[in-house]
Amino acid sequence: MGLIPYENEKYQDWSDEGPREKMRAALAGVGGALGRSYPLIVGGKRIETDGEIASLDPSDPSRVVGYAGRATEREADMALQTATEAFGSWSRTTPEARARIMLRAAGIMRRRKFELLAWEVYEGGKPWSEADAQVAEAIDFLEYYAREMLRLKDGVPIYAVPGEESRYFYQPMGVGVVIAPWNFPTAILTGMASAALVAGNTVVMKPSEFTPITGALVAEIFEEAGVPDGVMGYLPGYGSEIGDYLVSDARTRFVSFTGSMKTGLRINELAARQVERQRWIKRVIAEMGGKDAMIVDDSADLDSAAADIVKSAYGYSGQKCSAASRAILHADVYDEVLGKVVERARGLKIGAPESADVSVGPVISEPQFEKVSGYIDVGKDEGERVLGEDPGDPKNGYFVPPTIYAGVDPGAKIAQEEIFGPVLSVIRARDFDDALKIANDNPYGLTGGVYSRNREHLERARHEFKAGNVYFNRGITGALVGVQPFGGLGLSGTDSKAGGPDYLPLHMLARTVVERF
Ligand code: GLU
Repeated sequence: MGLIPYENEKYQDWSDEGPREKMRAALAGVGGALGRSYPLIVGGKRIETDGEIASLDPSDPSRVVGYAGRATEREADMALQTATEAFGSWSRTTPEARARIMLRAAGIMRRRKFELLAWEVYEGGKPWSEADAQVAEAIDFLEYYAREMLRLKDGVPIYAVPGEESRYFYQPMGVGVVIAPWNFPTAILTGMASAALVAGNTVVMKPSEFTPITGALVAEIFEEAGVPDGVMGYLPGYGSEIGDYLVSDARTRFVSFTGSMKTGLRINELAARQVERQRWIKRVIAEMGGKDAMIVDDSADLDSAAADIVKSAYGYSGQKCSAASRAILHADVYDEVLGKVVERARGLKIGAPESADVSVGPVISEPQFEKVSGYIDVGKDEGERVLGEDPGDPKNGYFVPPTIYAGVDPGAKIAQEEIFGPVLSVIRARDFDDALKIANDNPYGLTGGVYSRNREHLERARHEFKAGNVYFNRGITGALVGVQPFGGLGLSGTDSKAGGPDYLPLHMLARTVVERF
């Protein structure tokens, strides 16, 4: 297939009036379409459910973005059965045909971009640039995995003994259950599902209960792009009601999950138990949490360090598993960097992201608001709050102001546990060794950063920083597909690198076939 080489989708330039105008028009259009119903999709049919999930705008929870179906075990059973039956024909389609469908989905997303961004603003509470980066990432996943499938379609070269041919190639696995998070409801759902689909598997997609409408748009786009009926199911529902069922069922061949450590470990445990009629060991591809640290040593460019700490800590209100939630500062530059970080963070504009100039929107939901507020309370005993005040009434939107605790002990709760909100713990390190030790003394290992001009420090961190994605002299969020394959060590996941060259084979079975002549 002739295609242009892979390249990342460009971001909007919001200083330009053109995209601003389009965005305002899209917000008005989508604003007039809120409150509709989105039934499940199984076998190409719309399935109504007894219950429903009301998806609320986190900036104004009195506003319903849409009503999604609420699957029970009955519909989960239907979705798994349909996906099982569709596997035979889909797995025999050519990799090229599957890749074309993904490329078409990317084309549709590009054409509907501003509309998708507007839904992100209403349902996810995302500021414009965060929404834009996310839809660009979804498009990147489609473009990248399509090309990856073309690269891998004939297998990879191996050796042979004289007089024989040895072939090593991949084939589809079966039914994949895709369980997506609310923080990147377009990008990660699209990424996990497209990798599974382009590799020839059928999928049951469960979007997060907090962002099911965005999930419905992704499902519609796959349908429109030509994913055949039954190959993809859209199954919104509560994890507590259908999660265990989907993971445990004998028809499930693999689970692709992004979300919390707790849920990821539960999935791993359930998937490991063989149930009646199960004839394989289920594969789990999991991307879990993080407690990501940025180290600044005494040789660093302190202004850039402070700017990138603020960007990495407060982008999408810190609701990224890649977010900087610990700043570990060398004692000699501690006061100066802390001062610069506080000053910059104080300048962030918090508010409803419908307006262009907002850089920090709400957190996603009431439970998340309560959780982050709880950590803000805990922090009062664990550090000195140098920025932020107690959050207001959640009825007026789930807003949590950017918060900084200084002088935090590396073992403190707010320095060890994932908060997933706009709360930064600042820790003083004696020297670089101490900083690295503090950074690594944590069960997670997703992203990490070092700001330094000291080559020796950078080379040490290259090997010793316990994180799947380590970034030097830059921010630590926003991994680019195909450029910064993303995934963590330790309890951050299965080290499966989304957007990287090893990702597709996780969704396939490797076969060796040898013929003697
Ligand atoms: N890949 C995203 C990033 O690099 C984070 C994904 C997540 O939060 O799950 O910022």
